[in-house]
Amino acid sequence: MDTVTRNAYAKVNLGLDIVGIREDGYHLVKMVMQTVELHDVLSFKKAEGREVVLRISDKSTLPDLADVPTDGRNLIVKAAERMRQRYGITEGVEITLEKHIPMAAGMAGGSTDCAAALRGMTELFGLPCTEEELAETGVALGADVPYCLTGGTALSQGIGEVLTELSPMPGCGMIVVKPGFGASTKEVYGAYDSLDPAGIDHPDIDGMVNALEKGDLSGVLQRLGNVLEDVTAALHPEIHRIEEILIECGAAAAIMTGSGPTVFGIIPEGQDAAAKDEMKRRTEEILREEGIPAAVYVTRVYDPQEVSG
Ligand code: ATP
Repeated sequence: MDTVTRNAYAKVNLGLDIVGIREDGYHLVKMVMQTVELHDVLSFKKAEGREVVLRISDKSTLPDLADVPTDGRNLIVKAAERMRQRYGITEGVEITLEKHIPMAAGMAGGSTDCAAALRGMTELFGLPCTEEELAETGVALGADVPYCLTGGTALSQGIGEVLTELSPMPGCGMIVVKPGFGASTKEVYGAYDSLDPAGIDHPDIDGMVNALEKGDLSGVLQRLGNVLEDVTAALHPEIHRIEEILIECGAAAAIMTGSGPTVFGIIPEGQDAAAKDEMKRRTEEILREEGIPAAVYVTRVYDPQEVSG
């Protein structure tokens, strides 16, 4: 095969809890991860020479494309280099990235591109690697990469590498608000570590897993929770206001994903495309009026298994 194309789907956290800290300082998590339809597109082509070359496609829609590294700092390049070394590939590869997922947003943009690059290289060069080997290569590049290799609805534990497949989230739409300001993951976790443990309000992850098992969407929505939200919101009070705006505009519930600053709202069932567009328009209007710079996206839950049959 000379060319391969793969979609790299973003994720949101329906639930995020921190349950401990490892000796090396990594946080032990308990997170409910959910793939969404919003995705980047990666194309891989064998090339002359011995290099990995990454280009950004002009079909990309991300406004801050200049911030996407195309050298060895990009997880796509790292993944392709690792696979070349591990499997003794001598040919070069040219990769094109069509970037749509907002960056530094808590949507695993880099990790999902990395996972798609591991799969793309496997397919392009017909490599004999097992799922375990892919996950092992992936976790060395980023804690969320093993999850991104399979996606769907999953419980993520350990530092993110211990994965349990969950019953799929009932289908629903989402409206995603990525504020113009960034939230440093390091700063957010640092601020979390200095909290008094007695005062921390932990989300009910087990209850959410049970609600998913029953296919009970309202049970899931009641338990949306992110232990980092108050920490990030203390640094950026706009986060809570964005949630209120989403509810005012018709979302059934709203929550921050990852370490933020992105917030997403759940769109109630039965809303057609025009109603979703109107929700997006109103959200953008209120954000603009209140001087909160942000990009707004409409997406929905994505179940990779349903698509692959
Ligand atoms: P997570 O949800 O895993 O915390 P994130 O949404 O916070 O991820 P990313 O979008 O992955 O963050 O980007 C964080 C940084 O990673 C970027 O600022 C960028 O320099 C770097 N990076 C490396 N590879 C990529 C990639 N393929 N796409 C976007 N950013 C990348």
